[in-house]
Amino acid sequence: SDPETSAAEEVPHEPDTSLRPRRMDEMVGQRDVMERLKIAIDAAQSRGEPLGHILFDGPPGLGKTTFATVIPAEMGTVVQMANGAGLKAPKDLLPYLTNLSEGSVLFIDEIHRVPRAVEEYLYTAMEDFRIDIVLGEGVSARTLNYELRPFTLIGATTRAGMLSAPLRDRFQIREHLGWYADSELCEIVRRNSIKLKLPVDDESAAVIAARSRRTPRLANNRLLWVRDYAQSKANGQVSGKIATAALDMIGIDKMGLDKQDRGYLETLMRVFGGGPAGLEAIAHTMNVSSDTLEDEVEPFLLRSELIVRSRRGRMMTALGYQHMKQLPPGKL
Ligand code: ATP
Repeated sequence: SDPETSAAEEVPHEPDTSLRPRRMDEMVGQRDVMERLKIAIDAAQSRGEPLGHILFDGPPGLGKTTFATVIPAEMGTVVQMANGAGLKAPKDLLPYLTNLSEGSVLFIDEIHRVPRAVEEYLYTAMEDFRIDIVLGEGVSARTLNYELRPFTLIGATTRAGMLSAPLRDRFQIREHLGWYADSELCEIVRRNSIKLKLPVDDESAAVIAARSRRTPRLANNRLLWVRDYAQSKANGQVSGKIATAALDMIGIDKMGLDKQDRGYLETLMRVFGGGPAGLEAIAHTMNVSSDTLEDEVEPFLLRSELIVRSRRGRMMTALGYQHMKQLPPGKL
């Protein structure tokens, strides 16, 4: 299929695509990032040049893909969406590169998963808007130089540390997306409840925001569930009490932890005596991939100081025990 899509088009696997902001001024929070990007966009536009390559990093669901769609929208250009996991060989990258129109954007999500052989093509593509394709082998090998139209690469990663230095250094703009404040999540819930035509009062918005682990994607998912629950159980009327009951029912606690987050803490507490325990051992015991734990579960637990990471492994903290309503070993 044609990888070229318009900036307004959405990523298909997102359950909350209708809630994704389409323009920068519809986005909430990340004010510093937003300001720097606006300056870079303004400057590029007034010079009539493509915007410099941008790398976003940070935990999942904080707006990397959203930025990658609103930036081209601000620039009035198109975006092609690719995923690092899908770019296994150079031939997987070529259609995207040859499809670029002048000043357009290529977005590569999970860019840390691009293998080295493919990454090397990105170096000259990013730096000189050129790729060198080697045809044939040995003495009969020929190199074909292919000129690309000047473009902007936007990369996103949850693992900035896994990116090679030569790739990282080719991004002129590097932005880290951090967690959102409760008040910002409240604002996102309020705006999206209007889009959903669902009346949500301040108290309900606060309940949903507080249980969303500081993550817009989760705030949207929780809001959609509260809407279903209210429609089925309360004639579509949302209140703080209804929102609380709805989220309790799917196992989301006061801190916003879901079943998997609490499963992690349970495992660390019960099976490993509070740690230290290795990530792989915890993942095996829970029967989930260590990548999932490292990307989706641990960042918030670490940030909330429910666990700590030491050289010897993961450990429960006093706060972690308190949250799980357990006493640390030795205090029984
Ligand atoms: P992943 O790394 O998992 O791809 P991501 O960082 O790319 O995650 P997005 O897909 O951009 O996250 O964001 C998830 C959803 O959260 C979006 O569909 C959007 O509705 C909402 N969202 C993200 N950031 C914002 C924001 N700043 N303001 C309003 N809504 C936002």
